[in-house]
Amino acid sequence: MDCPVCREPLIVAEREGIELDVCLWCRGLWFDAGELALLAEKLGRTLSAGEGGVVPAATSEKARPCPRCDRAMEKVVLGGSSGVLLDRCAGHGLWFDHGELGSLVGQMAVAPGSHAEAVLRFMGETFGAGAPSSPAAGDAAGEVKR
Ligand SMILES: [Zn+2]
Ligand SMILES: [Zn+2]
Repeated sequence: MDCPVCREPLIVAEREGIELDVCLWCRGLWFDAGELALLAEKLGRTLSAGEGGVVPAATSEKARPCPRCDRAMEKVVLGGSSGVLLDRCAGHGLWFDHGELGSLVGQMAVAPGSHAEAVLRFMGETFGAGAPSSPAAGDAAGEVKR
């Protein structure tokens, strides 16, 4: 399976029973549809951002190919107003750009020390998206500076 952005092979990272496919070059992240549901379960909640919570996005960004079937993915926004723009293949899953994961993690209020936090921390470490426990980090991970 290749990165839809770089066309380099994705590597598999596994933690807490969730398998993620990661690009080491752009730090993008592929979630199979089933893995996303599993993550939501691990987080002990139904993601409002889950399968039913994405809406088509109007964007001029170029469509990317699904790493599974190579068809153009659709651009969607997670949770409607979150502003997290993702690429989705209806049949296979979701692609997160590096900063997009950071935005998503930032929107998930999880209890420090909880299982959910451990999972998100792992994801943050793996993808350099910034650990959820350090919101003070000044780098602009999806934040719009005014
Ligand atoms: Zn890549
Ligand atoms: Zn696909």
